[in-house]
Amino acid sequence: MREGSCLCGAVTFTVEGEIAGVSVCHCGQCRKQSGHVWASGWAKDEAVTISGDVRWFDAVGTAKRGFCPTCGSFLFWVAHDEDTISFAMGALDGATGLSLGKHIFVRDKGDYYDITDGLPQRAQ
Ligand SMILES: [Zn+2]
Repeated sequence: MREGSCLCGAVTFTVEGEIAGVSVCHCGQCRKQSGHVWASGWAKDEAVTISGDVRWFDAVGTAKRGFCPTCGSFLFWVAHDEDTISFAMGALDGATGLSLGKHIFVRDKGDYYDITDGLPQRAQ
């Protein structure tokens, strides 16, 4: 089981079992909310336990973005029609034993950096 939290510790979460889809999102929404790009992994709803008061923001009508209302840490992304929760890789505590697998929404990436790690890049 892996544990994570926001910056102030008011929101904590645990993830049981496998973490899938470890990726970096370059979309405009993740860039705005995170300040750069957002690295996340995902697991089934039932594998993720969230404690604390999460504020949810629905930017586009298809998914909601969860953050700590106290410190602002952007922690979760949940599509309305999926039974999974994506969580911020950067919020996990300690060693994860995981590695980034791909970049997504690279067509929306900023022009102030290059992606040079050789990982697969998806336009969306
Ligand atoms: Zn917080």
